[in-house]
Amino acid sequence: MKPDFEDPGLFSFDDSFASLCHLGTIKKKAIQQARKDVEKTRVFAREHLRPLVLSTDLKIQQNRDALADEMLALAVQHQMLSGSIPKFLGGNSSGVMFGMNPSIEELAAVEPAFQAGVMAGHGLGMVALMVSQNLEIMERVAAKVVEEERAGRPFMIDCAITEPMAGSDVEEFDLLPHAKLVSHARKVDGGALLNGNKCFISGGHSADLHVIVAPFNLNDPAGTLSMFLVPKDSSGFKLGRVEDKMGMKAGSASELLFDDCFVPDENIVYIGEELPADFREKILLSVLGITRIAVGAMGTGVARGAFEAALEFAKNQKWKGKAVIHHQWAQEVLTNMLMNVYMSRSVYLEAGYVLFTTVLPGEAPSIMNTRLFEILYNNPIARRFRYSKIVRDAMLKQFFGKPSWDIQRLQFFSSLAKVVGSDTGMENCHMALEMMGEVGLRHDLGAEKLFRDIKLCQIFEGTNQLNRLHMFNHFIARNIPGVRPF
Ligand SMILES: Cc1cc2nc3c(=O)[nH]c(=O)nc-3n(C[C@H](O)[C@H](O)[C@H](O)COP(=O)(O)OP(=O)(O)OC[C@H]3O[C@@H](n4cnc5c(N)ncnc54)[C@H](O)[C@@H]3O)c2cc1C
Repeated sequence: MKPDFEDPGLFSFDDSFASLCHLGTIKKKAIQQARKDVEKTRVFAREHLRPLVLSTDLKIQQNRDALADEMLALAVQHQMLSGSIPKFLGGNSSGVMFGMNPSIEELAAVEPAFQAGVMAGHGLGMVALMVSQNLEIMERVAAKVVEEERAGRPFMIDCAITEPMAGSDVEEFDLLPHAKLVSHARKVDGGALLNGNKCFISGGHSADLHVIVAPFNLNDPAGTLSMFLVPKDSSGFKLGRVEDKMGMKAGSASELLFDDCFVPDENIVYIGEELPADFREKILLSVLGITRIAVGAMGTGVARGAFEAALEFAKNQKWKGKAVIHHQWAQEVLTNMLMNVYMSRSVYLEAGYVLFTTVLPGEAPSIMNTRLFEILYNNPIARRFRYSKIVRDAMLKQFFGKPSWDIQRLQFFSSLAKVVGSDTGMENCHMALEMMGEVGLRHDLGAEKLFRDIKLCQIFEGTNQLNRLHMFNHFIARNIPGVRPF
């Protein structure tokens, strides 16, 4: 993506101090609400979720086809599936986005697999739909999630991008033209036919609706990448295997299979060719720009969970006649672990500033609550025209007509949060196990589970290697002609 105005150079004030630039725009009320959200999630995680963590992990280790039904029931009971849906659509979003990533940290500190496997697949699907600005579909899906949740039943969605031969390539727009995709759509009367398969889709076996990203033309995936909504009972669709993966056991990673699966026009979220060329790229970049920050918060939570496990161990186990915590070597390890938590938290918070103040400005309870959405839903005349092409184009322009600079800054910060969060999470789990020795390998203490879980955070949402190249591409190389990683 080419910058559309003069590059202020690396380390410009705006790039370096996003939070300072926007402090004045954050209302006190929003901070108070964020505090309430985080406290509420902490109580949920510690009192309700924690008792299920080890038993669910063990259950699915013994039977990979088992699902985390008890956790899903808990999510419904606490209205978490409608947590990203704004109140004006009947959802349970509190009203402030700034509490979102710290709340993710709270959940992941107790059970990253619930956050990643149960909530994140659903969240990724919701984000993909919201960002695509198809309000008719978004409202329909939101209404169903809310209605079922009120009746005490889960209604879940997922988002399928990855395929067996195309992972990183589909998440990195520059690699997309050469991606070895097989899933594709073909236009037919009244809709499209989907063929191919997707894999490693979070929550696929629990999902009622699948959000599918696939091109119309396999020879031009970047130009024709589109989005479809596929209900689980569609003819021509079936679920394949659940991956037997090392960690994040509470979340299924599913294979989805399409054999002439008919998607009616009303379920085509967007057709790539009908969007301006740079919007196609920006939609994908924005989805990942949002969700990678969440992975950073998740990694920070795991780093914290590992710290807490090591602290408990150090207080309770003796070495050379006194509790481990009295030894200087252990004090240093624990301090290093705590430093990691604070460092990676500050990175995802800063990334959140970039997202919530430049790309999605507003007090935003969800991606849908920018100022434009407020006008659209609160003004009776505007509301009547919300499904029109003019309104959709205006919404797309609001999101994706940003200077490419803002989008590039977001790309850098979201990848930074993802890499730092997942790497520090990994490092802390490693340090916890080193300190705990054989005791740490016991399932009942939870540290070995966190170790198995965190590895996956370094892989999904683009591997950390690819995210590093993504940062290089969008930040370091942006004004060095001829230097590109891909
Ligand atoms: C638990 C879990 C849940 C997931 N959930 C979802 C989901 O809900 N939806 C979804 O669509 N996907 C999901 N994924 C898939 C995930 O996004 C991919 O695994 C990820 O994008 C990496 O792709 P890959 O596994 O195919 O690795 P590959 O792309 O095959 O990469 C393999 C290796 O090659 C390196 N590499 C690849 N290309 C390049 C390059 N051009 N230059 C340099 N190095 C390169 C990578 O860094 C890596 O080291 C999930 C994955 C996991 C593990």
